[in-house]
Amino acid sequence: MKGKLLVIGFGPGDYKHITERAREAIQESDIIIGYKTYVDLIKGLLTGQQLISTGMTEEVSRAQEAVKQAEQGKKVAVISSGDAGVYGMAGLVYEVLIEKGWKKDSGVEVEVIPGISAINSCAALLGAPIMHDACTISLSDHLTPWKLIEKRIEAAAQADFVIALYNPKSGRRTRQIVEAQRILLKYRLPETPVGLVKSAYRDNQNIVMTNLQDMLDHEIGMLTTVIIGNSSTFFYDDLMVTPRGYQRKYTLNQAIQPLKPHQRLQKEAEPWALEQTDNVKLKKKDPVLLSDIETSRALAEEALQLITGVGENISPIVNQPIQSIFELAVSPGVANKKFTPKQMLTLAEITGEEGVMEYTPDHSIKLQILTSQPDEIVQKLKDANFLISPIGDVLSVKACDFCDGEKKDSIPYAEELHERLGGMELPKELKLGVNGCGMACYGAVKEDIGLVYRNGAFDLFLGAKTVGRSAHPGQIVAEGIGPDEIVGLVERIVQEYKQKAHPNERFYKFFKRVKQVQGFTYQDITPKIKIEEAVCGE
Ligand code: SAH
Repeated sequence: MKGKLLVIGFGPGDYKHITERAREAIQESDIIIGYKTYVDLIKGLLTGQQLISTGMTEEVSRAQEAVKQAEQGKKVAVISSGDAGVYGMAGLVYEVLIEKGWKKDSGVEVEVIPGISAINSCAALLGAPIMHDACTISLSDHLTPWKLIEKRIEAAAQADFVIALYNPKSGRRTRQIVEAQRILLKYRLPETPVGLVKSAYRDNQNIVMTNLQDMLDHEIGMLTTVIIGNSSTFFYDDLMVTPRGYQRKYTLNQAIQPLKPHQRLQKEAEPWALEQTDNVKLKKKDPVLLSDIETSRALAEEALQLITGVGENISPIVNQPIQSIFELAVSPGVANKKFTPKQMLTLAEITGEEGVMEYTPDHSIKLQILTSQPDEIVQKLKDANFLISPIGDVLSVKACDFCDGEKKDSIPYAEELHERLGGMELPKELKLGVNGCGMACYGAVKEDIGLVYRNGAFDLFLGAKTVGRSAHPGQIVAEGIGPDEIVGLVERIVQEYKQKAHPNERFYKFFKRVKQVQGFTYQDITPKIKIEEAVCGE
C-alpha cells in the first residue's frame, strides 16, 4: 500500500474557517504531525489518529518523520496554521522529498491543501486593508539573512505595497520590528494606518488600529500579524480600508473620497495609465536589456511626475500628497448667464491640459481638476466672480436669465434660495428651477421643484420626472404664493425630502410614494398607455 502526504493549512484557528477538504484530509489520515500548539487547535476534529507533536523549532525533523511514515504506507497529515505554503510546512516537505530523489509520478503521493493565511484572516478582521498590491514579509531572520529582509522591506516600502509582516517579534527577536519601522518611515508618513492582529479567530484575539509612528507602543508578539497600509489606506469607523485605486475625488466642503466604482474606469480618472502616457517621448535605443531598463525608468519617472507634479528631482519618497480629482461646477451667476473673457481664461488656466471642462445641461460647466490644492483653485474662481457649486447628490438652483435681467423682481428670491439651499446634501441630486415670468422658458416646471414668478407671486410645481420616455412636468400644487413665504416653504419641502426619502430616491418618486409633502397632495397622473422604461443606452 502506497502512503500519502497531506500537507494541510487549517486556517487561522477556529473550525469555521477550515476548508471542507482540510477537514476530510485530517479525518482520512492515519497520523497527524505538527507543532504542539497546532495539534491542540485541531484536537476536536480527530477520530483516533496517531499524534506526533513536536516543538516549534523541530520543523525539519517533523518533515522527515512525515516522509518516513508515508514511505511506510501511512497517510500522514502535516499540519500548518494558515496556509501550509506560506511560511509553513509545504516547502519543507518537498525539500525533504527532493533530497531523497523523490519523483512526482513514482514517489509517494503529495497533496497540499490550501488554507486561509494570516494575511487574509487578519485583513478581514481589520476591514479591507489589503485590496491593492500587497506583499508578505517575515521578520524572522532564523533562516533568512537580515540584510535580505531589510532589502525587501525597503523595496516594498518604496513601491508602496501594503505589507503584512509575519513573525514580527518573539522573546528573543525584538529589534527586527524596530528596524522595520525605521525603514518604513523613510518612505511612508508617520500617520500611515497600521493594524495589529493577535491570534485572529482564536480565543485571545486582539485587534489594534494604530499608525506607523505609534505601532511599537502596543503589544506585538509571536502571534501578531502587522499590516502596514499603503499611501492611500485610511481608517473609517474603526476599520482599515485601502481603496482599490489611487485616484480620489472630492468636491467643495467634502472630505476626500475614493472614486465610486462606476467612476473608476473613466479615462480622465487615469492620467497615469500606460495608454495615456503616449506623450512621453521615449527614445528606444538598441534592443538590449539596458535600454529596456532605461525605458521603464523613464516611464516610471513620468508616471510619478504625473501623479505628484514633482519635476526633475524625483525623490524616492512616495509620501508626497497624491493628486486627487477636484470636482465642482461653475457658472457666471444664478441669473447671469454670460461668461466674461477673463472667466474663460481663468477656466482654461486652472483646468490645464489634464483637467476636464464639461458643458452640462445644468446651466453650469463641470470641472474636474487634478490638484492637491483645492483651496487655491476655489480662490482663483472666486476672484474671477464665478458662482461655484459642489457636484453630487446636492441641490442646485437653475434659474432663467430673467429676460437678461429686465424682469428682475424675483431675482433676489432665486439668489436667496441658492444661498440658503444650494449645495445642500440630499438623498439624490435635486434641481430647483426658478423662472421669472409665466413664459417659464427656462423650463422651471420641468425640474424636480419648479417656481414660476407671476403677478408678484410664485406658482409651485412639484415632482417633475426630468428624464426618460415617461418624462413629465411637475404638478402645479399651488399658485400665488407670496414672495415672503416662498423661501421658507421651499426650504421645508426640501428638508422633508432630506429626512424622509430613501437613499437615492429621486424627488418625484418620493412625492409619489409619500403622497403628501408640506400639505401638498400628489395627484396620480400615470398615463393610459403603459410606457416601458428604457435603461441607459437602449
Ligand atoms: N502558515 C501561516 C504563517 C506561519 S508564520 C499562515 O499562512 O498564516 C507564523 C506567523 O503567522 C505569526 O508570527 C503571525 O505573524 C502569523 N499568524 C499565524 N496565525 C495567526 C493568527 N491566527 N493571527 C494572527 N497572526 C497569525
